[in-house]
Amino acid sequence: MTNPNLDSLRSAFDGRLLLDAQDMEPFLTDWRRKWTGRALAVAQPSTAQDVASVLGWCDAHDVPMVPQGGNTGLSGGATPDGSGRALVLSLSRLNRIRGVDPLGNTLLAEAGATLQQVQDVARQAGRLFPLSLAAQGTCTIGGNLATNAGGVQVLRYGNARELCLGLEVATPQGELWNGLRSLRKDNTGYDLRDLYIGSEGTLGVITAATLKLFPLPAAQVVAFVAVPTPGAAIGLLELAQSRLGASLTAFELMSDLCITLVEKHVAAARRPLETPSAWYVLLELSDSHDEARAVSALEALLESALERELATDAALSASVAQFKALWAMREDVSESQGAEGKTIKHDISLPISRVPEFIERSGHAIERNFPGVRLVAFGHLGDGNLHYNVSPPPGSPGDDALAALESPINRLVNDLVDEFEGSISAETGLGVLSWDGAARSKRAV
Ligand SMILES: Cc1cc2nc3c(=O)[nH]c(=O)nc-3n(C[C@H](O)[C@H](O)[C@H](O)COP(=O)(O)OP(=O)(O)OC[C@H]3O[C@@H](n4cnc5c(N)ncnc54)[C@H](O)[C@@H]3O)c2cc1C
Repeated sequence: MTNPNLDSLRSAFDGRLLLDAQDMEPFLTDWRRKWTGRALAVAQPSTAQDVASVLGWCDAHDVPMVPQGGNTGLSGGATPDGSGRALVLSLSRLNRIRGVDPLGNTLLAEAGATLQQVQDVARQAGRLFPLSLAAQGTCTIGGNLATNAGGVQVLRYGNARELCLGLEVATPQGELWNGLRSLRKDNTGYDLRDLYIGSEGTLGVITAATLKLFPLPAAQVVAFVAVPTPGAAIGLLELAQSRLGASLTAFELMSDLCITLVEKHVAAARRPLETPSAWYVLLELSDSHDEARAVSALEALLESALERELATDAALSASVAQFKALWAMREDVSESQGAEGKTIKHDISLPISRVPEFIERSGHAIERNFPGVRLVAFGHLGDGNLHYNVSPPPGSPGDDALAALESPINRLVNDLVDEFEGSISAETGLGVLSWDGAARSKRAV
């Protein structure tokens, strides 16, 4: 090392420091391959104290710092800019589970532990950690909390914020703040934890978290349901909530194009229902008693839905393999749309009852103004959260055509979201993707 600044960084902490361009490369491009940057170095500390030391060094040397967990974020927040001045602080080696308390229903994980790792350790202790999303094998608890991640179980268990009891955070000045409480109630003044959650690394770097656990359900059944319209899907949601109460653990909406793309790009995927429908709902029921009770509750619900013409057909999982195959139809949508080419993404939330009206109005406006583009709409309908994405017309040449449409399509969607009093970032964070839009939506009125 010849740069005196980097020599002093090397001696500031014990973990790994990557300087070679080839070693740094995987840390410089985001999951969607939309943003690529440059970095001074990539630091990989393996203790919380070392994370704090790296931050102290950045502060002393006026070096910008970009925290990175699993690098699965969809908004570009974990990618450095093109200046080459920033240090990427990778949390991947800070990944121990410090402890599990099944009686208190808590688990203490370091920030770089993957979501899957946390779920597995909880399950081994006979408990459920319910945060669940398609990137769970790679995304980290630190990244989940920094973006206040949502996923498919928010309807029942809440988002990452609601699953966190305490945090340990390295501050920009290089100190370690210990807020690792496991208390369900603590009203002793301001709650710093809530400020750090969702702040995407702008206020400090999360190094560890105390997480809430739940009893493991005795049985889970999923139904893949054909619904004629988004309005019918909302009717089905209302019916399911009144019949199933807290047993309803997921309620996801997908357009037919989502299923077509999954079928096209995932070799093992098969359409669960023969007759195509314009829309589908995937709903999950978790039961604390047994499978038979879960199946009969779901069958009764679907019978009512068919009678009321809220649904036209349905398939129920009858084995673990079928449960996974039906969930895969939903979880593989993002990757399948990515395989189709570059996309324009919107992660929006709306008042639930107004989702159908939004889909209709925005669909017409996009069709009229940008003929031929394909709308890939899916999401967590139970939370009013839509992934409202746009793919180029089939066979269109390269990515440039889509890039030219990005600004006007974003404006159209964001204007409508504003009019519907929704949010332009529901769960994947602002990153650099939604920075401009955020300034507008947080303006004083
Ligand atoms: C296929 C797929 C499906 C997805 N589905 C969902 C979904 O259903 N719901 C959902 O919410 N998200 C979803 N995501 C987005 C993504 O997985 C989540 O945002 C996840 O929480 C990011 O975690 P990460 O560790 O990969 O964070 P990264 O991508 O590494 O970072 C995300 C942001 O958090 C900051 N950050 C990371 N770690 C820390 C830390 N320890 N302290 C402070 N700041 C930090 C980064 O600087 C960046 O701004 C999906 C992504 C993919 C690829």
